[in-house]
Amino acid sequence: MERRNAWLTYTEAEKKELEELSIAYRHFLDAGKTERECVARIIEEAEAAGYVSLKEKLENGEQLKAGDKVYAVEMKKIIALFQIGQEPLEKGMNILGAHIDSPRLDVKQNPLYEDADMAYLDTHYYGGVKKYQWVALPLALHGVIVKKDGTVVDVNVGEADEDPIVYITDLLPHLAGKQMEKNAAMVIEGENLDILIGSQPLSDLPDEKKKEAVKENILKILKEKYDVEEEDFLSAELEVVPAGKARECGLDRSMIAAYGQDDRVCAYTSFAALLDMEAPKRTSCCLLTDKEEIGSVGATGMQSCFFENSVAELMEACGCYSDIALRRALRNSRMLSSDVSAAFDPAFADAFEKKNAAFMGRGIVINKFTGARGKSGSNDANAEYVACIRNIFDTHNIAFQTAELGKVDIGGGGTIAFIAALYGMEVIDSGVAVLSMHAPWEVTSKADVYEAMKAYKAFLLEA
Ligand code: MN
Ligand code: MN
Repeated sequence: MERRNAWLTYTEAEKKELEELSIAYRHFLDAGKTERECVARIIEEAEAAGYVSLKEKLENGEQLKAGDKVYAVEMKKIIALFQIGQEPLEKGMNILGAHIDSPRLDVKQNPLYEDADMAYLDTHYYGGVKKYQWVALPLALHGVIVKKDGTVVDVNVGEADEDPIVYITDLLPHLAGKQMEKNAAMVIEGENLDILIGSQPLSDLPDEKKKEAVKENILKILKEKYDVEEEDFLSAELEVVPAGKARECGLDRSMIAAYGQDDRVCAYTSFAALLDMEAPKRTSCCLLTDKEEIGSVGATGMQSCFFENSVAELMEACGCYSDIALRRALRNSRMLSSDVSAAFDPAFADAFEKKNAAFMGRGIVINKFTGARGKSGSNDANAEYVACIRNIFDTHNIAFQTAELGKVDIGGGGTIAFIAALYGMEVIDSGVAVLSMHAPWEVTSKADVYEAMKAYKAFLLEA
């Protein structure tokens, strides 16, 4: 049951559409390197396409009707967008759910120190990272510093050509004999992922401050640039991410190399599919969650009540809310839990079982189940639902393939699917295959990105 490479099927018009999508996708990746930045960018694009805040609609007491487009946001990090369908909400929605948080290094609450005439920010990594991959490359600092008076200061350093970058050092090979003998998990230790941010001492300091003159200089720069004090780090969310723009990859430009494609590749294509919907039969929804990489916890993770509450508010605004109607709306929904898959990598062929692996360029990947050690922790989609999905994809000429995450017992992973399934809705994992997942730069195939967008559109139309 080998699947065909999607590139072999494209007409010139399709190739043009594929390129346009990949350019828009790269711009999205450049604008959204944190969950907050992604939400801001999504709102901007959604409002331009006629979406309005559900909260505002409710406050103005406006009733929603079929065709209306609204969005709900929590804490600037999770967002649900809806286009009201012709059918009553109680009959269920077609939901595309992806996540917009990505592995990275978070700056600690008391981060700033000086050692050997250099200033550093201490970090605590977020999500599953191979720590040795994050050293000796250009890094950028994105996030917010919130002052006691509530002022939110945006920070974005390391992206513009004229910006400085920040950096984590590694040991020179000449002295690394002992380091190279270590287990890869210990080559770079978490506590050593400290960001080098300065080396120039401030002159003319009083005696008691002289021994931290480099740190003092950094504090002076922070004061001048952002009007913040050292104590303001206490209420900051600063994320250290790879610096630089998403790039085309390969001499044939067939791939995209960029930070954060898990899972912004599914987030963006889901959102793009929603924007293309006009007057759907069932209500279309695109849900973009935070905290997936650390277990979908917290008020902005999938385990929170955000989605359920947003649907309740939506039904209220449509004049059809009741507890039983809400339960039915969720139970009768169908969802694609849109998250990335591991692409087969010949360099690490041992980790995969080739018949059930995802291949670059062979289209969107359906994962009936995820999990680890005997499917543990997985949402195992119903065969009837898998049949329904593959019928939709075949009817719309979508290139798709099925896969599981690696060989049996070699590892595993999870997504938001099992949480949505708690409502009794049909849900299955589907997404784009990624090389070097969770690395500072991840690689996808433009063809797979294109097929994902087409698949999501077909799903919103037909499911
Ligand atoms: Mn993911
Ligand atoms: Mn991930």
